[in-house]
Amino acid sequence: MDLKSNHNSPILTDPAPISKSRLGVHLNMLPYASAPGVGFSPNMLLIPRKKTGVLDDVRASSWLDAMKSSSPPPNRISKDDVNELSSLDPDFLYRNWMIKYPSALASFDQIVPHAKGKRIALFLDYDGTLSPIVDNPDGAFMSDAMRATVKEAAKYFPTAIISGRSRDKVYEFIGLSELHYAGSHGMDIMVSDRHSTDDQGKEVMFQPASEFLPLIDEVYKSLIEITKGIAGAKVENNKFCVSVHYRNVDDKNWNALANSVYDLLEDYPRLRVSHGRKVLEVRPVISWDKGKAVAFLLETLGLNNCDEVLPIYIGDDRTDEDAFRVLKERNCGYGILVSSVAKESSAAYSLRDPSEVMEFLKSLVTWRKSSAL
Ligand SMILES: [Mg+2]
Repeated sequence: MDLKSNHNSPILTDPAPISKSRLGVHLNMLPYASAPGVGFSPNMLLIPRKKTGVLDDVRASSWLDAMKSSSPPPNRISKDDVNELSSLDPDFLYRNWMIKYPSALASFDQIVPHAKGKRIALFLDYDGTLSPIVDNPDGAFMSDAMRATVKEAAKYFPTAIISGRSRDKVYEFIGLSELHYAGSHGMDIMVSDRHSTDDQGKEVMFQPASEFLPLIDEVYKSLIEITKGIAGAKVENNKFCVSVHYRNVDDKNWNALANSVYDLLEDYPRLRVSHGRKVLEVRPVISWDKGKAVAFLLETLGLNNCDEVLPIYIGDDRTDEDAFRVLKERNCGYGILVSSVAKESSAAYSLRDPSEVMEFLKSLVTWRKSSAL
């Protein structure tokens, strides 16, 4: 594996993790290299110190709207998306939506010619993409069939998991050492040089938000306290971010929950809130997201030459849009949105649910095997 980086995005970095790295690669191949023009030099730190307010994603007056629009119930279209069509039949709306976001399965024969003579790099979200969305976030297990499919895909394509969960948690769910993992919305990256679970290959770690750890831990404890009285609320420590799940909270209490979270965050100007699928995500205010993580991985893995590599990113959530945008802006590769409802996206294609994701991954492997003959 060719581990390298000349990424230019100014971000908050901390040189500490690299000293803990088990890698033996040359320094100038690492994200923290300080050669001129190398983006991960400590002298390129960008730390937003000014009190920006916690309402980066939504205004206070529209918390409830944002919570509802980020959590469309099955078979009903989000009012933010195509409001004027909301009285129409959902199936009709979905079929209409698929004109703009065609099924990656139905369009498979149009996609794969673009991969001819190239390596495919796979980026996969976890919740809602490889595993079903379930009421208890601790129970979001992937099926054995999905695990076997991802394992097989990783034999043919460099494969990375990009999740909002902590890296340890998502690894626990997947358990495949041959994959690369980016947890905490890409803020905790482990690049693997292993080819199987038994392989003793090297790993490189990159944690652009490591200085936020004590702050995140503190806010996690406070969030546990302040949500105690709200039935169904669940707070999850994802290491570099904290998730407040409201999937099991009665919707008449959503406003109270959001108020509690935003009130607390008034005291933490270096943290912000973003909205996922029935979850409020408390994250550090740094210029880093799933899109930056994808760009970082492409460079670090030596996969950023568009003439040689076709990246494919599959995800279901708002936070995956950052990654879709990166591929779209580079005009390199495809974003595939997993959704059973119509919603605006920067993805190029769609898949309806994790079972279609599995079918798509299997098709890619079959195609690669046959094209190698
Ligand atoms: Mg997801």
